[in-house]
Amino acid sequence: MTTRAWLLAAAALAVSIVSIVPTGGSTHAAPVSTEVTSGPAWPERGQVALTFDDGPSAYTQAVLDVLADKGVHATFFVIGDYVNASTAPLLEAMSAAGHSVQNHTRSHPHLAPLSDVQIVEQLATTSDRVEQATGVRPSCFRPPYGSTGPRVRSVAASRGLSEVLWSTDTSDFERPGAEVIVARALADADGRPLTILMHDGGGTRNQTIAALGPVIDGLRARGYEFVTLCSRRTMNVAPGGAVRNEAPGASMKRVPNPPAGLVAIEPVRVFDSRTGARVEAGALVAVDVSAVVAKDAVAAMLQVTVDGAVGSGFVSVVDCAAPRPTTSVVNFAAGAVTASGALARVVGGRVCLVVSAGAHLIVDVTGSFAPSSTVGLRPVAPTRLVDTRTKSASLAPGTVTVVGTPPAAAVFVNVTAVEPAAAGYLTAWPCDSPRPATSTLNFSPAQSAVANGAVLRTGPGGLCVWNSTAVNVIVDLVGVFEDGGALLRMFEPYRLLDLRDGTGGWHGRIAGGQTIDLTPGVDRGDVLIGTLTATQIAGSGYLSLSPDDGVPLTSNLNTSTGAGDVANLTAVAVGADARIRVSAGGTIAEDVVLDIVGSFARRSPP
Ligand SMILES: [Zn+2]
Repeated sequence: MTTRAWLLAAAALAVSIVSIVPTGGSTHAAPVSTEVTSGPAWPERGQVALTFDDGPSAYTQAVLDVLADKGVHATFFVIGDYVNASTAPLLEAMSAAGHSVQNHTRSHPHLAPLSDVQIVEQLATTSDRVEQATGVRPSCFRPPYGSTGPRVRSVAASRGLSEVLWSTDTSDFERPGAEVIVARALADADGRPLTILMHDGGGTRNQTIAALGPVIDGLRARGYEFVTLCSRRTMNVAPGGAVRNEAPGASMKRVPNPPAGLVAIEPVRVFDSRTGARVEAGALVAVDVSAVVAKDAVAAMLQVTVDGAVGSGFVSVVDCAAPRPTTSVVNFAAGAVTASGALARVVGGRVCLVVSAGAHLIVDVTGSFAPSSTVGLRPVAPTRLVDTRTKSASLAPGTVTVVGTPPAAAVFVNVTAVEPAAAGYLTAWPCDSPRPATSTLNFSPAQSAVANGAVLRTGPGGLCVWNSTAVNVIVDLVGVFEDGGALLRMFEPYRLLDLRDGTGGWHGRIAGGQTIDLTPGVDRGDVLIGTLTATQIAGSGYLSLSPDDGVPLTSNLNTSTGAGDVANLTAVAVGADARIRVSAGGTIAEDVVLDIVGSFARRSPP
């Protein structure tokens, strides 16, 4: 993006940028030079990667013959125990012919239950053997059975391996018949990026071999270009900023929930540890929300607040059925009061959270998502509903600011507190109800601006915002919930971007003026929802998310040195090229993490 276009986009974002971005020409796009040493490292829109697992085997040569006949290259995730003196020449020939040979562990275990040392052994041994056979060290691994998690990815990243999952599972190992394999392979082939999972080992593969030609013909007929994964490198180099690495885009698993619509309620406090002891680090907090969410709720919209922490840390929303750290929703510093919105799966009427350091935890529920509701999200062009800075120096403590809202069941707003004089909080609620004993965001004088995303029921009277101490308030509308809008699909939470370890294809701290692009693997127009976090912050500025072909749906984070790590509930529409952008403004350098928990999809999947 040019400097001018970037500044225009920044002007359009709204949300408290005015108060913290230096005026004049001090923000500028960092020059990015592109160094392409070979072809693509992950599928883009209109591209397909054929991938084969569990070889080499007696069937691998027949797969290679079909590929050669069709003039297509593929990516093979091989099992280290099968790489030996007798198979090495085959692997060498595959690599020399232009296929990508990658890592599927040494003995095909579930990786998630293994220790770090065992995971390293599984991956490193296989990489060593592949490199010995082909002369090219794998840069990617695929976890057997999709058994993975943040720890597996982190251990693999420490060995230079990025994770590849898949978008389309043919389940060819079931041997359902070649026609069924073809139909499954083509089921999602509507132009979206495809990574198709098949097998050249692990059993009799005659059906896979019979299906492969028609699969390739069908993809060609739909205009797809065939690419290999991970064997080639593209580097975008931004001096002083994040650099693109060879990691593929993240993949996600959809939790098998039906699409769900919003059931909005007045905010209700469902958990508050301040009446007793702090929540201990690592302890599972299971909060019964069955009395306030819809009977068939699959997810709850929460406001999570941390108070009086004994050290800095973060809050994770975890799966009650399988509690292990997934993604963080609130980052906090010792003693501070910090809040953020979060979307949590509801299992058995409960939501579950874990803190990484001892702290008081407060949980409010503002709504739930249930298959029985058809109230969905309709994104709108960012609209500033109120900015009290235009009326007064600051609002007196206890002021109620009335915010007019469009007619809708509920609104998705970004609420920002600007230049508070003292520590305090804001409460937002529908004006046709009494003010609840909940908080929408917390702030302290150390922060020039604090923003938080919230989904709130609204009514004819609009939204009311109450401030506990002197501060100014900005409310930006980013979407409305109405009948027929896009319904929520929950994912298994996944990390789309982590600049600290290269997850998502970028590595190193983002610099002010820099924009980086991500391919989340969902359809254009879908709206992703999750948490954006900034850490290791130096300087001051902000982060925003946007579709690759538009201005940001919402400005997401204001960051400054000394204010600590910050996180916010965020939503972003996926653009025309099935990508999103992360833009940094101001004079910052910081690490960025983006965790995704679901998406609002315009149409039901097949
Ligand atoms: Zn496998």
